[in-house]
Amino acid sequence: MTDVTDPRAAGRTAPLVRVRALAKSFGDNHVLRGIDLDVAPGSVTVIIGPSGSGKTTLLRCLNALDVPDAGTVEVAGVALDFAGRRTQPELRRLRAQSGMVFQSHQLFPHRTALENLIEGPVHAQRRPVAEATAAARALLEKVGLAAKADAYPHELSGGQQQRVGIARALALRPQLILFDEPTSALDPETVGEVLAVMRDLAAEGWTMIVVTHEIRFAQQVADHVVFIDGGVVVEEGAPADVLGRPAHQRTRQFLRRIL
Ligand code: ADP
Repeated sequence: MTDVTDPRAAGRTAPLVRVRALAKSFGDNHVLRGIDLDVAPGSVTVIIGPSGSGKTTLLRCLNALDVPDAGTVEVAGVALDFAGRRTQPELRRLRAQSGMVFQSHQLFPHRTALENLIEGPVHAQRRPVAEATAAARALLEKVGLAAKADAYPHELSGGQQQRVGIARALALRPQLILFDEPTSALDPETVGEVLAVMRDLAAEGWTMIVVTHEIRFAQQVADHVVFIDGGVVVEEGAPADVLGRPAHQRTRQFLRRIL
């Protein structure tokens, strides 16, 4: 039997994430105009596109931080059709499927690294403190910060804070990790350590969707690259195609600007 709680579960060919006709407006601003997206389990999808094209909004809709106006989102078997109004419990179920890593880590400033990791599992998921603590220590070890368990966020470098942010997302045992420009607020010298943690997670088989301008990371780690512009998917495919020989003029223009 496939263990659906194991992100490395092999042999599943159905997409882990299925998005259809997703639409989201803020007032008159039609930010997402019908997004379709499939994400295979255990794959890394990198989303690229100009500023303001809807990348962050798409990630936020995937875990119901923003509520779409229309379309469907399915993550690991939890499906929501946003054509009608959704209830809070429905939104919470979808939200629980994914962990979000933000541009700036958004850690609780008055809690230690370890306490930041334990908060969600104990309070939101009602897991026993001892179990959550042991799991949190293992996660800090995984991101190379076992020695910083008792440090407060202000005592950590930007890169270390972001690694705690990643560990905190993992602590909720999501099916999917969403990264929203996880390195864009970092000093250049700490970008590498965060990307290294993300590479490790990819190698472990986590399903990841990453919004980033780090094209080298996309070339080396992504299984699938999606170029979004104006709230639609303009082009998607293997990194060698989308980044190496883009079919669309808009993709070529964008890549010329950022490379
Ligand atoms: P990207 O991540 O590609 O830069 P965003 O998804 O952040 O793009 O933003 C797309 C558009 O949606 C922008 O015009 C932005 O101003 C608008 N937008 C995003 N969030 C909100 C919000 N909460 N309220 C109003 N407008 C928003």
